[in-house]
Amino acid sequence: MAPETPGTETQALSNLLQESRRFAPPADLASSANVTSAAYDEAAADRLGFWERAADRLTWAKRWDTTLEWNPPFAKWFTGGQLNIAYNCVDRHVEAGRGDKVAYHWEGEPEGDSRTLTYADLQREVNKTANALTELGVGKGDRVAIYMPMIPELPIAMLACARIGAVHSVVFGGFSATALKSRIDDADAKLVITADGGYRRGAPSALKPTVDEAVAECPQIEHVLVVRRTNQEISTYDRDVFWADIVERQSDQHTAEPHEAEDPLFILYTSGTTGKPKGILHTSGGYLTQTSWTHHAVFDLKPETDIYWCTADIGWVTGHSYIVYGPLANGATSVIYEGTPDTPHRGRFWEIVQKYKVTILYTAPTAIRTFMKWGDDIPAKFDMSSLRILGSVGEPINPEAYVWYREHIGASRTPVVDTWWQTETGAIMISPLPGVTSAKPGAAMTPLPGIVADVVDDQGHSVPNGGGGYLAIREPWPSMLRTIWGDDQRYIDTYWSRFEGMYFAGDGAKRDEDGDIWLLGRVDDVMLVSGHNISTTEVESALVSHPKVAEAAVVGATDPVTGQAIVSFVILRGTAEEGADIATELRNHVAKTLGPIAKPRQILVVPELPKTRSGKIMRRLLRDVAENRSVGDVTTLADSTVMNLIAEKLPSAKSED
Ligand code: ATP
Ligand code: MG
Repeated sequence: MAPETPGTETQALSNLLQESRRFAPPADLASSANVTSAAYDEAAADRLGFWERAADRLTWAKRWDTTLEWNPPFAKWFTGGQLNIAYNCVDRHVEAGRGDKVAYHWEGEPEGDSRTLTYADLQREVNKTANALTELGVGKGDRVAIYMPMIPELPIAMLACARIGAVHSVVFGGFSATALKSRIDDADAKLVITADGGYRRGAPSALKPTVDEAVAECPQIEHVLVVRRTNQEISTYDRDVFWADIVERQSDQHTAEPHEAEDPLFILYTSGTTGKPKGILHTSGGYLTQTSWTHHAVFDLKPETDIYWCTADIGWVTGHSYIVYGPLANGATSVIYEGTPDTPHRGRFWEIVQKYKVTILYTAPTAIRTFMKWGDDIPAKFDMSSLRILGSVGEPINPEAYVWYREHIGASRTPVVDTWWQTETGAIMISPLPGVTSAKPGAAMTPLPGIVADVVDDQGHSVPNGGGGYLAIREPWPSMLRTIWGDDQRYIDTYWSRFEGMYFAGDGAKRDEDGDIWLLGRVDDVMLVSGHNISTTEVESALVSHPKVAEAAVVGATDPVTGQAIVSFVILRGTAEEGADIATELRNHVAKTLGPIAKPRQILVVPELPKTRSGKIMRRLLRDVAENRSVGDVTTLADSTVMNLIAEKLPSAKSED
């Protein structure tokens, strides 16, 4: 980042965007909500007591002795307690007489390819798989890499690991052999579970060859367990074992041994938006307590009547916490979809909502902006009257995208919960509660009960209302990461060294005049213009609020006059034309919305933006482009050709002042 202009007093982060829209909870939702405003008071009065009650929603084989052991920055929750995560997610629902209830409606990408698993089905499948893993020599504490498409065997494999106390490391199925190999090595996994392939964009997409390439250089891998999904032709090796051969012949009985609350449950690598992914370690009791409670509270889940659909890939933390562990612990009925939103047509998501009468939908801003770009007429063709709550996660949601989501997907009835959290936090931390909060479009609003989050300045002091700064968490929480796998020092350096005694999330935030929290993008991306720290999110949201803009990314590029200047990359909406004066129009629009300080120096109209495989914009690559450097590490980029398309746009992009 450029040095500060001498003599200019700088706020940690400017607060430029003003938003006055509010959406109160629907009366019927408020009156029957799982969680009311009393939860905030209860947690404030006795934070640990609050989390104890949340933990009591689970079934413990042995109750814990100590709620929290806190040796900063290392936390242990519910020590002395023992539980089995798979038992909590599956067996206890069957034992309670809910074996016939659907756990997952699975929808394959090829139309008509669907499968339904009840809790009793899930129990049998998890038991068989646990027995198969044992036969393959996998025991408690061993690491298992999982590299699979979005098929039912993926959550089954995760639960089977959890059941026997093995630690899973799910690697997103879009990653390369090199990325997979480095994750297998980092966790020292002994088994890989995969499939021949999965369906994406209307065609079988192979996975097994990538595993073969990765495993060729991983001598520690004893077996590769392969599900047949696409029946593509694949090479086989001595180490390969087919799911149909080993799992299907196992007994469907298996005794779930209790594990310690602090036994590791999984390792998951962050999405790599800012750099080298970190192997985030999560443990058992605290993780399940918070994922389960937040799923119950933030989505107001009524297990008897709701049909819940989180569209994330299970390869990301959102899928771990809100497709697998949280919903299953709550006995929910969920939808899992294998494919992409535009296969075979751009209404596929809405067709699925209509088919299963989905009541709760949880997706990401990148998807919402894509649907906006495709046009309002597409969702309008489907009956989505079943929806009652919408959620967003992954990036700040631009107010315009929020309002579009509420209006065109939620028929202007449904609350939208903007949920802030990270791989590291394990579960939702800052979010409205749908029956309590009058939400503002674009704001994550307030920390959930039991969470002590703050916006602080450079010195770690809370900023006043109206101020901007860094998001920090002041107290440990049950589903927090325990460390970076094998690297305690990196854990300390990354999260606990910026501010004394506080967890540093790496995100910028502001507290508005009412004290509500808005996320402002990553601290690494903050732009320093003439002594003002300007958030990427605010400028991007101002651009997206222009009717011609579908999506925008902004970066600060070195500028001789202002330190840094704002360079914007925009994608226009389907119907908008790239006229000669579009740049002037957009620059003036931003100046009018946020003030002249935020006026971009350049506007580049581009066909695509560089995104991670989880759909997040990678601004550091755009900064390289804006500063005419060679582009940095692109290994976590979804489509590396995008950078060439953008670079082609550059020569025409002279300074426009
Ligand atoms: P890496 O840490 O490797 O750079 P990543 O941060 O993208 O990758 P994740 O843990 O998947 O990996 O993402 C968490 C981040 O996503 C948060 O720190 C924040 O920047 C962003 N985020 C998630 N939800 C929201 C939200 N509701 N509002 C704003 N930002 C969000
Ligand atoms: Mg991160």
